[in-house]
Amino acid sequence: VPRARDFTGTDPRVILHEVFGYDDFRGDQGAIVEHVVAGGDAVVLMPTGGGKSITYQVPALARPGTGLVVSPLIALMHDQVDALIANGVRAAYLNSTQGPSERHAVEQAFLAGELDLIYVAPERLSSAATTSLLQRGRLSVIAIDEAHCVSQWGHDFRPDYLALGDLAERFPGVPRMALTATATRETHRELTQRLDLPRAKHFVASFDRPNIQYRIEPKNEPRRQLVSFIRALRDALPDEGTAGIVYALSRKSVEQTAEYLSSQGIPALPYHAGLDASVRAAHQSRFLRDENVVMVATIAFGMGIDKPDVRFVAHIDLPKSVEGYYQETGRAGRDGEPAVVWMAYGLGDVVQQRRLIEQSPGDRAFKMRLGQHLDAMLALCETVGCRRQNLLGYFGQESAPCGNCDTCLQPPDTFDGTVAAQKLMSTIVRLQRERGQAFGAGQLIDILRGNTTDRVRQQRHDELATFGIGSDLSEQDWRGVVRQLLATGLLVARGEYGTLALGDSAGDVLRGQRTVLLRRDVMGRRGSTSGVRR
Ligand code: ADP
Ligand code: ZN
Repeated sequence: VPRARDFTGTDPRVILHEVFGYDDFRGDQGAIVEHVVAGGDAVVLMPTGGGKSITYQVPALARPGTGLVVSPLIALMHDQVDALIANGVRAAYLNSTQGPSERHAVEQAFLAGELDLIYVAPERLSSAATTSLLQRGRLSVIAIDEAHCVSQWGHDFRPDYLALGDLAERFPGVPRMALTATATRETHRELTQRLDLPRAKHFVASFDRPNIQYRIEPKNEPRRQLVSFIRALRDALPDEGTAGIVYALSRKSVEQTAEYLSSQGIPALPYHAGLDASVRAAHQSRFLRDENVVMVATIAFGMGIDKPDVRFVAHIDLPKSVEGYYQETGRAGRDGEPAVVWMAYGLGDVVQQRRLIEQSPGDRAFKMRLGQHLDAMLALCETVGCRRQNLLGYFGQESAPCGNCDTCLQPPDTFDGTVAAQKLMSTIVRLQRERGQAFGAGQLIDILRGNTTDRVRQQRHDELATFGIGSDLSEQDWRGVVRQLLATGLLVARGEYGTLALGDSAGDVLRGQRTVLLRRDVMGRRGSTSGVRR
């Protein structure tokens, strides 16, 4: 370990080279560093892997005093501090995992001016004791990482972040930075305001990750589909490992999926909050070491995991928001080599997510916001246009069709689904008017297809005028129709059983005043993962 050295006043480029071993700044890094070293505030929007850390670490070294980094992720904090120490930087953290003597040592080092960087969890900054400690020393810069967490309406709100709004008053004259890898236009505006950065310079990098190929397919048998996806990826990238992350919603699904993959000859490990800490740690370190292991996890996994050679990220359940999807898929291909992100999504996901929103605590406005997050996610799933264009558009960035997503590589078939939608909607209306009943997708599809199941007979649904009028479409086609109508809000799913009702503008379709263009679902679309490229 090189001896720690004081870099105050040193040229940032020299620090970059001597401390971090990089030849040059990347993208906006140089401009950000220059601005902050000169004492300016900055808002930095840069995708995961873009190199945000350097933008506050270098100013922290170049300016007199200690750089304060506010980070909500304790695991990430530990990793960063270890990496910094290995580079000869005097770094430490203050968090809840420390005993009193360790904490005391860090405090003394800070007060003695012997630290270049100090990492602190946001909740600690709410305490008067921490503030007073920090005020007794000298700060060079304040960096607020994961700054989108201050957005009350965002997907990742953390109440402790709200208290960060008065840092300017607590530490006058110290340049402040807010950094995030996920911000819509709205979140960007909100964090600038809440973190009180009216004079900050804004650095907004492109959110495009060109080496990532986006694929979304209709969910049928998710585990089987997942295995074919992984095998196809192996064929497409024969010379590389196939380390990947599979995200699932429930612990049970995580366990079952990991078992299934293993049984199919794909080494896989589960990771979720219900597992013993030692098991989680063991699985995580195996994942970090191994270039072929698949981690099956709930979404908590991956925050701050810096594994550059993750070749794929798969979702077998629908994420709640585009921000979440972008963040999770962003863990693929951080080394710049080709990577594929894949998702299977189906009718059940839409019904389940709507139900979760309905049951969530919170007022009407809050639920509405969750609903909008979901709608944006569904629009990405159902688009017949370029996935990347849709995704970047969500973050306020315009782009041309990418040529590296499933819809660009194989433009989806569409068909006029107006008549199908009318058949389905009038069945819903009849059940409601004639019987006072509401049913979920399964029963409605049986009625439309003319299936005389026990339940159909019991309910005498074979006597309805619409019985059998939809036998021209398969069961799977109908599920696609229902899913897409739900996604666009022409239908709504209610209650625990996801019973279907008409959405606000369904009348336009029934009256023939609106046509419905639908995507024809094809399972395991041709040439899955074809054309993977850098
Ligand atoms: P972020 O926090 O934006 O996700 P990191 O700060 O973790 O990104 O950086 C991502 C990767 O890029 C890291 O492996 C880091 O070492 C590397 N990196 C950052 N800046 C440079 C640079 N100027 N030159 C080369 N590699 C860099
Ligand atoms: Zn595309």
